[in-house]
Amino acid sequence: MLELLKKHFGYDSFRPMQQEIIEHILAHRDALVLMPTGGGKSICYQLPALMSKGVTVVVSPLISLMRDQVEALRANNIPAAALNSNNNETSNAIIRRECVEGRIKLLYISPERLMLEGDGLLRDMQIALFAIDEAHCISQWGHDFRPEYTQLGQLREQFPEIPMVALTATADKVTREDILKQLKLKDPRIFISSFDRPNLSLNVLRGYTRKEKTKAIADFITQRPNRSGIIYCQSRKGTEELTAKLHQLGILVDYYHAGLSAQERNRVQDEFINDRLQVVCATIAFGMGIDKSNVRWVIHYNLPKSIESFYQEIGRAGRDGEPSETLLFYSLEDLIVLQKFAEESGQAEINKERLDRMKEYAEASICRRRILLSYFGENSDHDCQNCDICRNPPQRFDGTLLVQKALSGIMRCEQQITMHVLIDLLRGTLSNEIASHGYHRLKTFGVGRDIPGRDWKDFLLQMLQLGYIEIAYNEKNHLKVTPQGREVLFGRSIAQLSTIQPEEEKVVKKRTKKETKRATETKGTKERESPMEELSLRRPKNRKGRLTLFGGAPLLDKQESEQLFEELRALRRLIAEEELVPPYVVMSDKVLHQLCNYRPTTIEAFGEINGIGEYKKKKYGERFTQAIKRFIG
Ligand code: ADP
Ligand code: ZN
Repeated sequence: MLELLKKHFGYDSFRPMQQEIIEHILAHRDALVLMPTGGGKSICYQLPALMSKGVTVVVSPLISLMRDQVEALRANNIPAAALNSNNNETSNAIIRRECVEGRIKLLYISPERLMLEGDGLLRDMQIALFAIDEAHCISQWGHDFRPEYTQLGQLREQFPEIPMVALTATADKVTREDILKQLKLKDPRIFISSFDRPNLSLNVLRGYTRKEKTKAIADFITQRPNRSGIIYCQSRKGTEELTAKLHQLGILVDYYHAGLSAQERNRVQDEFINDRLQVVCATIAFGMGIDKSNVRWVIHYNLPKSIESFYQEIGRAGRDGEPSETLLFYSLEDLIVLQKFAEESGQAEINKERLDRMKEYAEASICRRRILLSYFGENSDHDCQNCDICRNPPQRFDGTLLVQKALSGIMRCEQQITMHVLIDLLRGTLSNEIASHGYHRLKTFGVGRDIPGRDWKDFLLQMLQLGYIEIAYNEKNHLKVTPQGREVLFGRSIAQLSTIQPEEEKVVKKRTKKETKRATETKGTKERESPMEELSLRRPKNRKGRLTLFGGAPLLDKQESEQLFEELRALRRLIAEEELVPPYVVMSDKVLHQLCNYRPTTIEAFGEINGIGEYKKKKYGERFTQAIKRFIG
């Protein structure tokens, strides 16, 4: 099996669970596979497809997803096709014939199309396996319910002998049970892989105004030239406004939301996939149909409504396993909006609970990854070293006086002010609101002048989290002092606050090599390594091993290495254009980094790279090794 994995897909080893799942499927048993986005679900049915007689039928909800998968398979010379309404009838007829003649190994199909083909094609061809991708779409409880999926329940009765595997990245227990029940899986085994994605760094910035967010995002992007990323916003309008502002700052970005025409959406998605557009500002409508493996970062401009959706969205970064960054902006305004949504939704209790869990993540003062993993029912016994909390543990200080100032401000205004006005009061800003109520005559006016507004915001969020204040969402979002807060206000208990890290130190600054290395090392899995960064770090320790393995190319310094990367990237892009596929289908960023690191100059050595199978070795070996030889002269 390992040989086949290398031959067809170029990978040296299986990721956790893949082999077990494949063996289970090859034994003709049903299975439900839960793996995070980017975890490597596809191999679980693609490899069995290659090892079995007949066609593996893959049900997929979106045409763009099918296209991506088919392209990726064909790039490895694996016969695959998609049957959908985008094709004309002639090409669909050709595909059908190829299936019947057994010349196609993997057939991608939408659920509605599958049902239509029930009495014809499905009866005429030999079916090896049914793979139901994005299986959570069958559940009304999930976040992507698709009514067409519910018909899939018939398959089990129509084809009782054919194994079926359902795959999803949604770990929700209700959804999981719904999938099993509705698909009528026969004595299924459930595979739950770890939801950890150690290559994703986790960062949160609290209490930023819109203006500050825009500035921070612009800096962030500027420091990461050519690195693809997605910015998720809550509203359609939000995506458009942010796009316009970033444009003004000279950044190449476009927006995407469900209000655009299909044509326009396709255009944006296409440009992004093909590395012609670096950044997309989008609502959550964007991403589900995208397998682009070299998304290097994901920013949440607004707080998501649940960890479930947050995790799906950040999961779109770093599918190739290379280090990738995530950044969440957490603000009170968002919290208020989401609280309101939750309360007005049909399922207020569930949704408020979901939001609370999301808040817990945003407000964490312990390793954020541990919080995420515990949400998915996993308990990690160590800190990740790849989140902002681990890298910059918050320092505690006695904030009693500070808290007292804020609380007394609230009390003096008879608990009739919002956080916004409170900050004006503390800072001594004579806004309309302050003047019209005569708050400037209060003793607390200006007592917190020495602390910047943004820091006040952060401290107030901390006070909220510590339970000293509450927001009366149904009373114009006015602040109320809790009994616990009174204890501090009247000097009966002290308040510990965390210091605020200046933003530059937190994320906008790129992580140092040491940090990247530590983060990848804690997990220990070979596939998570970042060779480029490793090269300079491990020198000269590993120098010998690497040199003998690949025939003695001189080591490059960081700048040269980056230069080579850019050249290989350009070559990849050229090939992608020739072949009319996205660059990451030709090869992933991870493969490019390995090429920079090992710099193979023979085709054999090129074939050793993790991610280069037989077919790509023959097809691309010559051009890439030539380019490398030219570079190292
Ligand atoms: P999912 O469908 O779970 O989101 P994919 O199947 O698209 O994830 O896989 C994510 C990425 O990981 C792809 O780029 C895929 O080629 C890669 N991958 C999968 N299995 C392995 C493996 N055993 N070794 C290295 N890379 C792998
Ligand atoms: Zn951590």
